[in-house]
Amino acid sequence: MTDANAQARQSLLDAIAREVAATSDYPGKDQLSPAVIAALNRVPRHEFVPDDLRHLAYQNRPLSIGQGQTISQPYIVAIMTELAALTPQSHVLEIGTGCGYQAAVLAEIAETVVTVERIASLADDAKARLKRLGYGNITVIHGDGSRGWPAEAPYDAILVTAAAAKLPAALLEQLRPGGRMVIPLGRQDMTQSLIVMEKDAETGAVRESCKLPVAFVPLLGGLK
Ligand code: SAM
Repeated sequence: MTDANAQARQSLLDAIAREVAATSDYPGKDQLSPAVIAALNRVPRHEFVPDDLRHLAYQNRPLSIGQGQTISQPYIVAIMTELAALTPQSHVLEIGTGCGYQAAVLAEIAETVVTVERIASLADDAKARLKRLGYGNITVIHGDGSRGWPAEAPYDAILVTAAAAKLPAALLEQLRPGGRMVIPLGRQDMTQSLIVMEKDAETGAVRESCKLPVAFVPLLGGLK
């Protein structure tokens, strides 16, 4: 990488690696896979934050993006991407586009990403930004993602980047057998748990794991 932010991005990757190692008990991973590291290294996070916060873009922290919403902490983006266990053939659904950063990281690894955002101005801005940055494999949809996006289902992986008080049943239905969903579950006024749900390829039975403590803005909407 030759751009001016290469050094800052490497420091960020080092900070993420330290946090992954420190929290390895929860997801059972003490390091990120090379594909996830490469994806984080390729996405220019400074393009996804407001101009007045650009100097903070490569710090390992969430930042405000307006409308009461945030760009997720890079460590959280990294661990959610890792837990999704993507392949280059994956068809992925993300709920909660925000500025589009997580979608871009996913799109560096997966074949296609559908991302749904309920705030129209954020969806419009993310769509324009991702197009400008050349992400032709991402579809940004303005809508209520608590019901998933059945038109493009089933998905190999589903990532929910806002906290749901209870599991939205529609999302589990849209997960392909053999697929994984990564979702923060819990009340907004408390720490939530990041849950990984694996749908068995043969039986369709769902197995839960992980439970990393996290803090997300709430998933709003119909929750079917
Ligand atoms: N994925 C983002 C990133 O790359 O940094 C961070 C997302 S932010 C923490 C959560 C987003 O979820 C907000 O933009 C919020 O408007 C959105 N959201 C909340 N409820 C939603 C719903 N029912 N459908 C779609 N988006 C929703």
